[in-house]
Amino acid sequence: MAAPPHALSLVNVSRAYAQGEDRRLEILTGADLVIEHGQSVALVAPSGSGKSTLLHLAGLLEHPDSGEVFIDGEATSKLNDAERTRIRRLSVGFVYQFHHLLGEFTALENVAMPQMIRGLSRAVANERAKELLSYLGLGERLTHRPAELSGGEQQRVAIARALANAPRLLLADEPTGNLDPKTSDHVFGALSELVQATGVAALIATHNLELASRMDRRVTLLEGQVVELP
Ligand code: ADP
Ligand code: MG
Repeated sequence: MAAPPHALSLVNVSRAYAQGEDRRLEILTGADLVIEHGQSVALVAPSGSGKSTLLHLAGLLEHPDSGEVFIDGEATSKLNDAERTRIRRLSVGFVYQFHHLLGEFTALENVAMPQMIRGLSRAVANERAKELLSYLGLGERLTHRPAELSGGEQQRVAIARALANAPRLLLADEPTGNLDPKTSDHVFGALSELVQATGVAALIATHNLELASRMDRRVTLLEGQVVELP
């Protein structure tokens, strides 16, 4: 019997950016990372070390120069754009440093929309959106638009949206990096609780070691490689 697939597996992944005419900036140089289903991993590394690059590759937003990205056991390098979009939509949730919510829509609509794009009815999508937002302490903010929410509330809506389609993998790029320490603590607490409650695998880039200590594992980037931290 085959071993069950990992939620995410990066195998020998390299990525360099052109810098000027003839220089290449090597960001990832054969990086390996395996995340099991249900496992939460903090990515703690200095600014400029390649955290966003790694998350974009894992979320199929970019292609590696070489190496393979497996999502739930499926190799992705040879898939076409439509197939990559399908995996991104069904299996991956993404939270960015800035919330990227749709300004004209309410909190509820922002969380219901990805589900309706996937084909669920408005009633079912609204029900799950309400449940997620309530879990994140936003039950009284369902009809607020992003501009009518605080930074921490906006980021909690973004977390609810990322989890709306019950992805098996959550990728978050410094989700609390834009918030003051107290709000950051609150949002991260909600995020780690939800990660535990849903059993979603998570890779979360953060600068905050205290927050990182709440995850199952901690990794960093060292000379283009993923290195396990104690
Ligand atoms: P982090 O998220 O850890 O701050 P990034 O992955 O954003 O790091 O970037 C790593 C390095 O790659 C940085 O030095 C950055 O300037 C460079 N970089 C990122 N994206 C590009 C790009 N599209 N073109 C050129 N250089 C880039
Ligand atoms: Mg970054």
